[in-house]
Amino acid sequence: MDDRLIAIDRWTSESQAYFLTHLHADHTRGLSPGWRRGPIFCSRVSATLFPSKFPGFDLSLIKALEIGRTYSFTLKSLSSDQSVQYRVTPIDACHCPGAVMFLFNGDFGKVLYTGDFRWETKGNRAQMAKYMLLRALGKDKVDFLHVDNTFCHPSFSFPPREVAAQQVVDIISSYPKHDILIGIDTLGKEDLLVHISHALNTKIWVWPERLQTMHLLGFDDVFTTKTCLARVRAVPRYSLTIDTLEALNTVKPTIGIMPSGLPWSVTMFNSNKHSRDPSFAVTLHLDKDQLNSPQRFHRYVYSVPYSEHSCFNEIGEFIRLVQPFDMSGIVTSSFCYINPRHHFGHLCGAYQLLGHSWDNLEKHELFEKTEFMQIGSVSRCRDSKMGRNKKRALRNYCSGVRRSRVSLVRRERRGVKIIEDGFCASDLNTGIT
Ligand SMILES: [Zn+2]
Repeated sequence: MDDRLIAIDRWTSESQAYFLTHLHADHTRGLSPGWRRGPIFCSRVSATLFPSKFPGFDLSLIKALEIGRTYSFTLKSLSSDQSVQYRVTPIDACHCPGAVMFLFNGDFGKVLYTGDFRWETKGNRAQMAKYMLLRALGKDKVDFLHVDNTFCHPSFSFPPREVAAQQVVDIISSYPKHDILIGIDTLGKEDLLVHISHALNTKIWVWPERLQTMHLLGFDDVFTTKTCLARVRAVPRYSLTIDTLEALNTVKPTIGIMPSGLPWSVTMFNSNKHSRDPSFAVTLHLDKDQLNSPQRFHRYVYSVPYSEHSCFNEIGEFIRLVQPFDMSGIVTSSFCYINPRHHFGHLCGAYQLLGHSWDNLEKHELFEKTEFMQIGSVSRCRDSKMGRNKKRALRNYCSGVRRSRVSLVRRERRGVKIIEDGFCASDLNTGIT
């Protein structure tokens, strides 16, 4: 997304409007209690969790949007320099609590930013998200898609979370006398823990800050901070190490479980998945079966393919559904970054118009050349129904995606208002007190 107009999960450059997909740390880097650039639009759940993540933040700047509703706001167009009305619809991203995609509609056409997302084809939640997305799109297709490409490689094939959750239950059940540690982050995988609790009729231990988050999310009876009440304990992911488990096993038999799209061994080697550690490349050569079922990587450790990101096939299904004209991945910092065009470019309108095989291009060349192609293609063709102004706006938008982030926005343009059904989002009850 062009930061000069709309910044999504980017907090270091000046923009006209700011949107937050979810509260994971890699999407809030740069946010601090000293934030003064303007209101931040996010889901109601994210707004509810925000104070606990950012104590001291000016909460009058947090504006909650309802999932599935469409809001209007006015910004200064980058293509015409005129005030233009834009629309945004938050859609459930089925990732961690509060995570949403944003569908924008404006002079650049329809731009969809998935943020981190899991696109499982079955289940009521996924069906509802699909319904809302298709309803918001109407008869249109997506002009530009920013897609979660975390696992955009055929090696990454893992089952639905429901299946993986049962795999965790089965492991725990096979160790009735053991303590169980499950590695989690500060947000996410709540459904897994609730599934375990219900299946085994047990409470789950969490650390005090995590219990506060659970209560904010409405989980009042499942979790506890009393160790004596629970043999299953959810612990910070970084604390689940071989050293920790070996030390614990000198006191009491203990098994560790790491739910992740990455095998535990690779995760441990890459506590930051966006790092430049060459061992990360190992994942690209793993057998599919190794990623589809639980693996015992150490006598005390299991890895279970429970992921809150879409696997390769799910990314493909999503792209087929929204049929973008062009797209890029939101994960760009990893050294093994895979441009989604490499595997799914043939599903894009731009490819079909150009008749090229992007797969034959080298990685670096691929990025540069397709960026060039997307600009040229938009100006040349797209379809005959696209108006000249929309072409220019989309070309400007695409151009902005690759340009250096130079702010052209004056300070007096801060404080964008966003409206739905005649109500201003700043007037909506965010649930924040
Ligand atoms: Zn995330």
